[in-house]
Amino acid sequence: MKYDVTIIGSGPGGYVAAIRCAQLGMKTAIIERYPTLGGTCLNVGCIPSKALLDSSEHFHLAKHSFDLHGINISGLKVDFTQMIKRKNDVVSQTCEGVKYLMKKNKIDVHHGHGSFINAKKIEISLPDGPKKTIESEKTIIATGSKPSSIPGVDIDKERIITSTEALTLNEIPKEMVVIGGGVIGLELGQVYARLGTKVRVVEYFDSILPTMDRSLGKELQRVLKKMGMEFFLSHKVKSATVEKKKVIIAAENKKGEGVTFEGDYCLVAVGRRPYTENLGLENIGIQTANGVVPVNSHLETSVPGIYAIGDVIRGAMLAHKAEEEGVFAAETMAGQKPHINYLAIPGVVYTWPEVAGVGHTEDALKADGRAYKVGSFPFKALGRARAANETDGFVKILADKQTDEILGVHMIGARIADLIAEAVVALEYRASAEDIARISHAHPTFTEAIKEACLAATENRPIHM
Ligand code: FAD
Ligand code: NAD
Repeated sequence: MKYDVTIIGSGPGGYVAAIRCAQLGMKTAIIERYPTLGGTCLNVGCIPSKALLDSSEHFHLAKHSFDLHGINISGLKVDFTQMIKRKNDVVSQTCEGVKYLMKKNKIDVHHGHGSFINAKKIEISLPDGPKKTIESEKTIIATGSKPSSIPGVDIDKERIITSTEALTLNEIPKEMVVIGGGVIGLELGQVYARLGTKVRVVEYFDSILPTMDRSLGKELQRVLKKMGMEFFLSHKVKSATVEKKKVIIAAENKKGEGVTFEGDYCLVAVGRRPYTENLGLENIGIQTANGVVPVNSHLETSVPGIYAIGDVIRGAMLAHKAEEEGVFAAETMAGQKPHINYLAIPGVVYTWPEVAGVGHTEDALKADGRAYKVGSFPFKALGRARAANETDGFVKILADKQTDEILGVHMIGARIADLIAEAVVALEYRASAEDIARISHAHPTFTEAIKEACLAATENRPIHM
């Protein structure tokens, strides 16, 4: 078995890279250690979490908003087993889709753990199964990431759990303590809060979503508090211990005082670490730096012909970033000159209201000493938002003070995950705020908030405020 290129790992980085390599005429193989394709994203990440977010949102709306619209339901209850089953069905259909794409593109799929013997030979082994060796001219490492923890917190996967277990619980927790007010903590925290769990989020920084524009975390916290979630900011978790069916979490607040939290489950959501276990990197002379596989600007490692993409390298751990890098690596191998604008890769949080940002944050512009102007527009001033009873949130545009070029767009509100696409196009084409303000936006839509925020940034002349 000889290939032009082999990809180790079938997540969104790996399978997209495989398809692009095949499209470019390379004889391609993909290795996956799990029985299903799709990696973290399809199996235990993006897809199952969004399935549960959607299901729990339907329940929440039926319980709290339908009566406002004149729809009365009696006997409303959650069938959690069915909710999890639907999520599992969505996952398996999506994974099957990737399997189909591999077949369609004539990509050989090898199930088993891949490990470098040398730069051109990879051993594939199944637990208690036979081993085989394949040869490959070039390889893309796309082995992704795993959940990480903090000292004093040992994940037992029963009571002290990660996102993987939180997606397959067989009961709705009564009280859940979430360590980490980042993306996973808030998305999965909201799923359970909607289903009736008392959710307490304990966050080390002084705001939730600390890596996004600060205005977003502040607004999201306000909305999530209204639905009963509790937040303990500037709290450093020191330990978590299981006592029968309870977890006791010990933390320290910013005054250095000890604080304890209790729940029947503790979700650890403090980030993820690149995964390179038993990959045989030592056999090809690649040394990781803090677990990360180092690559140059062509995504090539220190070994010529071996590339790495996605969560296993530096940068945001996002499926669409991994996908862009998969295409980039494939096209680079084929002798093309692709390009990725990392600044224009959006970050989206799928809570409700949804949250998204692209480009520079306001803090980053301040730190750079860049002269900028701000234009904001609140959803409560939008006709469409009032019609939908979705008036929380805003759009905020950051533009260069002299040139009016859009430098960053940060939004929170209904349908933001889709709205951010316009901001990405604006950044990619280096639009000015006035460019966007002069484009017709359909009425009544949520997109009008972008136009209005751009008008506010350009000459402080929004129409509807
Ligand atoms: P992965 O998807 O992690 O895939 C790596 C694959 O490599 C795995 O299947 C693994 O089994 C395999 N592998 C590893 N080592 C070997 C080996 N030696 N041999 C064979 N196979 C191997 N991102 C978003 O953009 N949007 C979201 O909404 C989103 N939601 C998320 C929700 C959760 C709960 C989590 C945990 C993550 C979420 N992410 C989201 C992040 C996203 O899942 C990752 O950024 C993305 O999956 C990274 O893709 P990847 O291809 O680099 O690696
Ligand atoms: P994260 O980096 O988003 O958040 C981790 C949070 O934990 C941070 O806010 C951090 O300050 C906090 N923290 C760290 N140590 C702590 C301590 N001792 N006590 C209290 N708080 C502590 O990481 P995550 O939420 O675990 O997500 C992991 C990765 O998965 C992220 O990189 C994210 O991009 C990706 N992901 C993306 C999406 C999405 O795109 N919608 C969804 C889920 C996950």
